[in-house]
Amino acid sequence: MRRIDLNSASVARSPTIRSINRQIVLNFVRERGPISRAEIAQITALQRSTVSTIVDELKENGLVEEVSGESTGGRPPILLSLRTADAVAIGVDIGTAHTVVATSDLAGRVLEQEQFDTHADADKTIQNIISLVQGFIAKNKGTIEGIGISLPGLIDPVSGSCFVPHFRWRDLPLETRLRTASGLSVSVDNDANAAALAELWFGRPEVQEVRNFVMVLVEEGLGTGIVLDGQVYRGERSAAGEFGHMTIGSAAPVACAAGSRRCWEAFASERAAVARYSKLSRDNNGKREITFAQLIDRALRGERIARAALKETGHYLGVGIANLVQGLAPQAVILAGPITQVWPLISEEVKAAAQESICRGLPSTTIIGSTLGAQPTLMGALSLVLASKFALT
Ligand SMILES: [Zn+2]
Repeated sequence: MRRIDLNSASVARSPTIRSINRQIVLNFVRERGPISRAEIAQITALQRSTVSTIVDELKENGLVEEVSGESTGGRPPILLSLRTADAVAIGVDIGTAHTVVATSDLAGRVLEQEQFDTHADADKTIQNIISLVQGFIAKNKGTIEGIGISLPGLIDPVSGSCFVPHFRWRDLPLETRLRTASGLSVSVDNDANAAALAELWFGRPEVQEVRNFVMVLVEEGLGTGIVLDGQVYRGERSAAGEFGHMTIGSAAPVACAAGSRRCWEAFASERAAVARYSKLSRDNNGKREITFAQLIDRALRGERIARAALKETGHYLGVGIANLVQGLAPQAVILAGPITQVWPLISEEVKAAAQESICRGLPSTTIIGSTLGAQPTLMGALSLVLASKFALT
């Protein structure tokens, strides 16, 4: 049970109860819509008049709209659905290769997106982001309510400034720059945390009931986002989730972002997989340097060495996952990133390594691929705006 923090406790008064009920009704519409007022009243045991008052307010605020249901003879019933007519959020997904800027509706459906190659010069990248963001804001004529930004780095929770090791960006005032240029509220988060938030709110039905999970985001680096009891666990200075730097061995095929060859990232990231491929093909006198996307392509076409490099990487993913499972006992571990394109190829290695690394008597955990589709970190950026509308504050 969560201990009450008396320093920040607020006694429940009737407006609090009302806002809790409002969020409950809104979430019924979001998750079970189209749904009728009567059904919501029945499931929640709220008075029908209370549900109607709340629905009126949600309609007024542009969150919910009425749609007609299937007629069963008489007049078709009036049902409630999320209002998805407008773009309400802008997501900015800063990756080490590309940056994607996109708009979405309230349900998290991407409506429009643009992308450019991320420039190592932070100013140039921010300028590109600002011009795309301003374009989307102008085009949507006042419907955009906020901007979410996901990036492969750490964000100082006090100053909001960012540190992105890959580009050696330090003390980057991203939130301030974007807020000033757009006039909108801006929320920035680490890419693995953001993807975890997206899976929590916008994941498919197989993860909808999961309230404790770890998102493992495999990219050039390897990051994790921890969700405990339905919220992202951030830790002191928002630095939780750096399991990519836990030690799982020595003499990894590459060094991690901080220069160590002992970290999980050094064994199980995209760079590790590519290094394994280079070594295997050198041994076979083949071509050496390829990108991770090419490695995936070759594996999908059935190239033996490519498949072997990915399977070995899958093995080390499983070893690290076993550590997470033994420490946190989550309901699920969710794997995200481009590597999920070959999930059917590597899943057995991942699961077998996790299983054999978990000591006897401890629970094992379901390991699944992300349900967010091809752009988990973009969904993460968007959900920084969208989830705040549905969460209890
Ligand atoms: Zn490390």
